[in-house]
Amino acid sequence: MLSGKTALITGSTSGIGLGIAEQFAKAGANIILNGMGDSVEIEATRARLAARYPVKVRFNGADMSRPDTIEAMFVAIAAEFDGVDILVNNAGIQFVAPVDEFPTAKWDAILAINLTSAFHTTRLALPHMKKQQWGRIIQIASAHALVASPYKSAYVAAKHGIAGLTKTVALEVAEQGITVNAVCPGYVWTPLVEKQIPETAIARGMTEDEVIQNVLLTAQPTKKFVTVEQVAALANFLASQEAASITGAVIPMDGGWTAH
Ligand code: NAD
Repeated sequence: MLSGKTALITGSTSGIGLGIAEQFAKAGANIILNGMGDSVEIEATRARLAARYPVKVRFNGADMSRPDTIEAMFVAIAAEFDGVDILVNNAGIQFVAPVDEFPTAKWDAILAINLTSAFHTTRLALPHMKKQQWGRIIQIASAHALVASPYKSAYVAAKHGIAGLTKTVALEVAEQGITVNAVCPGYVWTPLVEKQIPETAIARGMTEDEVIQNVLLTAQPTKKFVTVEQVAALANFLASQEAASITGAVIPMDGGWTAH
């Protein structure tokens, strides 16, 4: 149970982040949602979670590509809660193109949102965690933190970077009751995956169905997409007391992909 804890899940207006927010709320944590999207839909999501579970559910729209808005979010959280007890670095974007055609603005955005934002949230969350000698930092990395795929240079670079950040910070705070781990899902059917199918089809000269069968599911020996609920359940366990000895781990959840 996570009652009495406050969890910030970046990029939780959709997909995996929203699934984690739901499971954490069910486990009793107060929730800070974050992410982009339609403000009416986001408020409906926030209100739905707040009505379903007896916890506080707030939304902060900090743009994870901007350190100033990330800092402002932590100031806002500290004004209502003591601080962030459980940090889930989940916000992420994708873009698929050969490296010599990769738009430089896309490279910068992917590195900022998928990697650098986790540095900022971590440095801002740690003082409170150190003060109370308890904390959980969970990265939603990717199988691409462990292996590469062509045409995803920025994403693979950022996710490998997250694995390095995870191990480094885990060592720095190991004696202070704070664990830092990375979950590495294979393909999960979310808007992020749906959006990259047309781009991958163009980059590889395939139909969209061929991309699903011959690129995405070929990577996963189980031939099944990982589910949002499965990723959220692992995050929930990593946040628990029972997971206190798991730290610095980069954990695949990829239907066997990285066993190849
Ligand atoms: P998604 O597109 O459903 O969700 C991404 C979330 O990030 C959304 O809430 C979006 O609003 C938010 N976001 C994007 N840009 C942002 C910004 N600048 N500031 C704040 N929030 C921003 O995608 P998803 O599949 O749920 O991805 C979540 C995480 O899981 C990502 O880090 C992704 O790399 C990782 N992941 C996804 C898969 C997969 O197959 N879907 C596999 C492995 C890892």
